[in-house]
Amino acid sequence: MKVPLLDLKPQYRAISEEIHDAIKDVVESQHFILGPKVATLETEIATYTRSSYALGVSSGTDALLISLMAAGIGDGDLVLTTPYSFFATAGCIARLGAIPVFADIDPDTYNLSPESADKVIGEMTADQKARLKAVIPVHLYGQCADMDPLMHLAEKYGLTVIEDAAQAIGSEYKNCRAGSMGHFGCFSFFPSKNLGAFGDGGIVTVGSDELIENLRILRAHGSKPKYFHKIVGGNFRLDSLQAAIVSVKLKYLDAWTHARQENAAQYREMFGTAGLDKICKLPVEKENRHIYNQFVVRVPDRRDDLRQYLAEHEIGSEVYYPVPLHLQECFSGLGYKSGDFPVSEDAAVNTIAIPIYPELTVDQQTCVVDRIAAFYKG
Ligand SMILES: *Cc1c(COP(=O)(O)O)cnc(C)c1O
Repeated sequence: MKVPLLDLKPQYRAISEEIHDAIKDVVESQHFILGPKVATLETEIATYTRSSYALGVSSGTDALLISLMAAGIGDGDLVLTTPYSFFATAGCIARLGAIPVFADIDPDTYNLSPESADKVIGEMTADQKARLKAVIPVHLYGQCADMDPLMHLAEKYGLTVIEDAAQAIGSEYKNCRAGSMGHFGCFSFFPSKNLGAFGDGGIVTVGSDELIENLRILRAHGSKPKYFHKIVGGNFRLDSLQAAIVSVKLKYLDAWTHARQENAAQYREMFGTAGLDKICKLPVEKENRHIYNQFVVRVPDRRDDLRQYLAEHEIGSEVYYPVPLHLQECFSGLGYKSGDFPVSEDAAVNTIAIPIYPELTVDQQTCVVDRIAAFYKG
């Protein structure tokens, strides 16, 4: 039985008519950049994430970049984040001439550990502390980072908090939605995210009039009014077509999230029945709403052989992420070395993401678990 890591076709088939109508609307209007479709989506996402405002942007990466710009991050500033995330999290910091500073992750959630963050800041010189301007917690795989202690640290050191919620739309921490707790919330509509566009797209959420106004100006090359530039921004605009498609999909997001959660519960049962729960570490649900963008399992050994074996049996899997950010070649100048963040390095070697998408069937899940069991017991 074929089990892809992600199959977007059944989702598309179920809502294709509505999607086509939305696309037709935009095409007939010939209004392709920003416009009413983007404004509508911004209102809907602000409501959904329980934030005051949202601003549609060109990608999740640009959501992070424009937020850092709006926070005034630049040359020589330090920004604290996790070494265990998609590259964009740290890449955006470096692109602005700022310096990513890493702290290790929590072994249960794979999210930035508040204790490790506290320790890293504690060991900084007074000059470094003065240059530390922001923190980017990532809500990895669909579960929020432990925000209370992180917000506390941010207050203590006067840091801007930029939540990388690219994998976490609708996830919750103590009844707050991802993206509504920090100063900025950054989301991605990359097709493989839980709420995906038909191309690139993203959105930033904020809680204040001042921040939304700054972001709006930065999105259009820093101009206000048009052709008058007080600051340097960029082209961070979201297409009307993408916004129209995402608005249609948003109506179904909670049902899809529920299906992902059911699949996660099903896996737990199946791993238990197969006796695999003794040797594999399943996702630990710490915060109260995990949206399962990924279902990541820590396996005992031979992770890459397992991947190969699954691929031979037409089962898709992926490694998020094989090289922690502090060990990426482009960051070698930062002076980190292997062994600096053991929990992240262990996760990079021993974890694997298995299929969790909403339309996955019980038979497919059985097939995945049977194959993992055969690999470790055979
Ligand atoms: C996907 C992702 C991004 C970047 O989003 P794009 O829309 O692909 O630019 C940033 N951070 C994390 C954690 C992501 O998963």
